Amino acid sequence: MDIKSIIDKIYETSEATIDEITAILASKETDYLFSVADHTRKEYCKDKIHLRGIIEFSNYCRCECLYCGIRCHNRSLQRYRMELDEIVETAKAAYEIGYKTIILQSGEDLWYTREKISSLIRRIKALGDVAITLSLGERDYEDYKQWKQDGADRYLLKHETADEDLYNRLHPHSSFKKRLQCLRWLKKLGYQPGSGFMIGLPGQNLTTIAKDILLLKELDVDMAGIGPFLPHPATPLGENHAGSGLLTLKALAVARILLKRTHLPATTALEVQNRNNRENAFHAGANVIMRKVQASKYRQLYDIYPKKSIVEKDLKQEKAEIESYIQKIGRQIADDRGDAIPLI
Ligand code: SAH
Repeated sequence: MDIKSIIDKIYETSEATIDEITAILASKETDYLFSVADHTRKEYCKDKIHLRGIIEFSNYCRCECLYCGIRCHNRSLQRYRMELDEIVETAKAAYEIGYKTIILQSGEDLWYTREKISSLIRRIKALGDVAITLSLGERDYEDYKQWKQDGADRYLLKHETADEDLYNRLHPHSSFKKRLQCLRWLKKLGYQPGSGFMIGLPGQNLTTIAKDILLLKELDVDMAGIGPFLPHPATPLGENHAGSGLLTLKALAVARILLKRTHLPATTALEVQNRNNRENAFHAGANVIMRKVQASKYRQLYDIYPKKSIVEKDLKQEKAEIESYIQKIGRQIADDRGDAIPLI
């Protein structure tokens, strides 16, 4: 089968094999792939882009992820923790200017006990009709259960790579099995689960990426972040090459055509790598964008991968900028919370 026929088949059946996806990823023809992905996005997500406000509230982390700049062994990083009151104030300011989803993300920091996170969720939910996405890494089943009862709506926990051996090498403190178990717990507890993976991890190949996309389907996630690996100099992978932006866009497009209704962000890593990638992502299946909303003094310190230095701007100004950008590319900011898109 030629590439176009494979793409048509995946679009029509919402099924794909590892070989079919690998063939698409290896192909140099991308126009048709991106146009079918864009068409699928329009059919299922319309022209609406969901804007999510993310609060990266702590860069303390107990993990040793070989790629990540906030890993516990990076002694050169200045660590910070936001107080609960400060996190709630930040969420309130974002909610009041129109953010309808607040993502609470941090390193795996057990200083924030089950009770502290519970109180955060309850206080933020009391602000109004706001969705909460948690992204706090691997925690106990009882933690996840309690936070769902407190009102958390979604949980973002990327599987990072579907290659079990590679996963276990990159995450010496945990295991692929544990990660999948957490994702299954989250689904069972009624969260709208989110996963995702990186492109360009050393040891990864196109077959791995095909498996990554198929794993998203198997886990039946409501959102998935696909971004390039960006080497951080203070990590064991600091000398490696960054993942390809083009390959990331191709994986995003295949994910849109296969999964149809999953929320797919133009990831921050893609944008940091190259500004044009953001627009390309919005024409290759993406329908979500996240903006950091914590104070600028913390943004630079949430140093998972290297980025340009941060210009201090007012929250309102940042929101106005992203809105005008979205209009410029012919899309609109969604005015609903952007929950899971139901199957049709
Ligand atoms: N502790 C949370 C949040 C982790 S940081 C958790 O475990 O889920 C959020 C995401 O940043 C990770 O899931 C990973 O995919 C991404 N990330 C970390 N280091 C990166 C790097 N060097 N390049 C690109 N993405 C990276």
